[in-house]
Amino acid sequence: FVIPFIINMFVFTALVSSRPWPPITIFSTFENESTIENNLCKDTICMKRASSDYGKLVQQIPIGVLRPSSVSDIVKLVKTSYESPSPFTIAARGNGHSVRGQAMAKDGVVVDMSTLNSSRGLFGNTGIRVSGDASLGFYADVGGEQLWIDVLRTTLAQGLAPVSWTDYLYLTVGGTLSNAGISGQSSFHGPQISNVLEMDVITGKGELMTCSKDNNSDLFYAVLGGLGQFGIITRARIVLDKAPKRVKWFKIIYNDFAKFTKDQEYLISVDGFNYVEGSLIMASSPADSFFSPSDESMISSLASKTGILYCLEAVKYYDDSILNTIGEELQNILKALHFDPGFIFNKVASLFDFLNRVRAEELLLTTLGLWDVPHPWLNLFVPRSRIMDFNQGVFVDIVKNQSESAGPFLVYPINRKKWDDRMSVVIPEDNDDMFYTVALLNSAGGTIDPAVIDKQNNDILEYCRKNGIMIKEYFPHYKKKEEWMKHFGKKWSVFKERKEQFDPKMILSPGQGIFNSE
Ligand code: FAD
Repeated sequence: FVIPFIINMFVFTALVSSRPWPPITIFSTFENESTIENNLCKDTICMKRASSDYGKLVQQIPIGVLRPSSVSDIVKLVKTSYESPSPFTIAARGNGHSVRGQAMAKDGVVVDMSTLNSSRGLFGNTGIRVSGDASLGFYADVGGEQLWIDVLRTTLAQGLAPVSWTDYLYLTVGGTLSNAGISGQSSFHGPQISNVLEMDVITGKGELMTCSKDNNSDLFYAVLGGLGQFGIITRARIVLDKAPKRVKWFKIIYNDFAKFTKDQEYLISVDGFNYVEGSLIMASSPADSFFSPSDESMISSLASKTGILYCLEAVKYYDDSILNTIGEELQNILKALHFDPGFIFNKVASLFDFLNRVRAEELLLTTLGLWDVPHPWLNLFVPRSRIMDFNQGVFVDIVKNQSESAGPFLVYPINRKKWDDRMSVVIPEDNDDMFYTVALLNSAGGTIDPAVIDKQNNDILEYCRKNGIMIKEYFPHYKKKEEWMKHFGKKWSVFKERKEQFDPKMILSPGQGIFNSE
C-alpha cells in the first residue's frame, strides 16, 4: 500500500502517452466518452502531478487530467460519467496537499482545479469577490480552486479577512472545506466549515446546485467535511471580519503537561486571545526561529521529568484603537496562567506575516531538500477526558523514543460549540465541550523510511484502541468498509444515504477509499 514515491520519468513516459497539450483546454461539449478521452491532458507533466501528492506515499495513475476552463467543463465531465453505462471516477484536485492519495483517481479522471483560476483571471475575474457592505455582513465569494493565501491577500486589500484559518495557506478552499480547516482560531470561530454561508456544488449527477443552511441544506451539510464525496465545490461564500493590523504573539514554555493543558483550556474559555495552539519540544526538535539563541538556552535549561517540554502559543490581534489598553488586558489574563516566571516570550508581527508563518518554513525546508519528501502524517481528535493518558502513552512512551523524525507535533484543545453536528466531519462522540487535536507531522527525508513512521503511527492507534481512548482521525484513511463505518460512527447511515442521494454512481473522490473499500 505504501509505495516509496520515486518519480521516474521513464516509468511515466511508458505509462502515459506523452503529447503536447495547451495549458487550458476549452471544450465546446462532451458528445460522448470518446470526446472526453480526446479532451484530457495526458502529457507527462499533467500525469505526474495528478498521480502524486504532498504525502509522497501513494501513486495512482488516472486515465487523464481535465484542465477545465470553466465550471461548465466540469459539469459536462461529471454528467458524461453519470450518464454512461460504465461510469468513470472523478477526483477534484485542489492543491494536492493530501498525504494519502485522497485527490487521486486510479483509472479515472483528475480535475485540476487550478486551471479554473487561470481562466477566471483571463476574463478579468480573480475568482475572489469581496462584499464589504457592513449592513449585509462582510463576506467573499471565492472559487473552490482558490488558495487561502490569495483569499487573504485579496480581502486584506479591503481591510477585511476570513476569521478561521489553517496553519498553512497554500491549500485550496475546496480542499480544506472537504475536511474541516482547523487552526488556533477554531476555538473562537469554529473550523473553516463553520464559516461558510453558501456554496455552488456540482453533484455526482452533474447538477450544479447552490446550497446553504436554508437552501438545499442536505447538500450543504453533506459537503462540509464531506471528503469530496458529494460534490465538487466551485464557489464558497466565506465569512469575513474587519482585519486587525498586527498581532502580539506569545510562546510560553512548560515542563508539566497538566499545567500546559489547563492553561490552554483556560485561554480558549475566556475572551481575550484570538488564537491558541501548542506543540511539543523534544531534544530532537529543530530550532524555532521565534526564539533567540539565549532564549533557546534558557528553554533547554528547564528540567522536565519526561524529557518533553510543551510550548503554548497564543496570539492577540490588535490595531491602533486598543494600543493603550492591550498590555493591561493581556496581563490580566496571563496572570491566571501557571508557567514558571521567565518562560514567556513574545513578539509583534503583521497579521499577514503571522497567518502566513509556515511559508517561511516551507521555503527553508525546500532549500534544504526536506520539503519535497514523504509525509506519513497522523492527525487525531482526542477526547479531552483522556488527554493526560494520551500524553503518557503516546507522547512520552512512543513519540519521544522515536529516533526517526522530529515532527512538528501539535497538541491543542478546540471548543466544540461551533461544530455543527449536521456537517459530515467527524469529531469525538462524547459530550465534552472541548476535544484535543493532535497532529504528528512527520517527514521522511534522507534515509528515514516512511514505513518505520507508519509502524509507529499504527502503534499509536493500537495504544488508543487497547486503552479505550476513543480518538477520531482527521484526514482519515482506511482500507476496509468496517473501519470507515467505525470512523463515522453514528453519522455513517446519514453519510451513506447522502452518497446515494448526491453521488449514487460513486463517481467522486475515489482516492478517499470510502465507498470503493474492501
Ligand atoms: P487536495 O489534496 O487537492 O484534495 C483533498 C480532498 O478534497 C480530495 O479528496 C479532493 O478530491 C477533495 N477536493 C479538492 N478540491 C475540491 C473541491 N473544490 N470540491 C470538492 N472536493 C474537493 N489542515 C487543517 O485543517 N489545518 C492545518 O493547519 C493544516 N495545515 C497543513 C499544512 C501543510 C503543510 C499541509 C500539506 C496540509 C495541511 N492541512 C491542514 C491539511 C489540508 O487542509 C488538507 O490536506 C487539504 O485537503 C489540502 O487542500 P488541497 O487543496 O491541497 O486539497
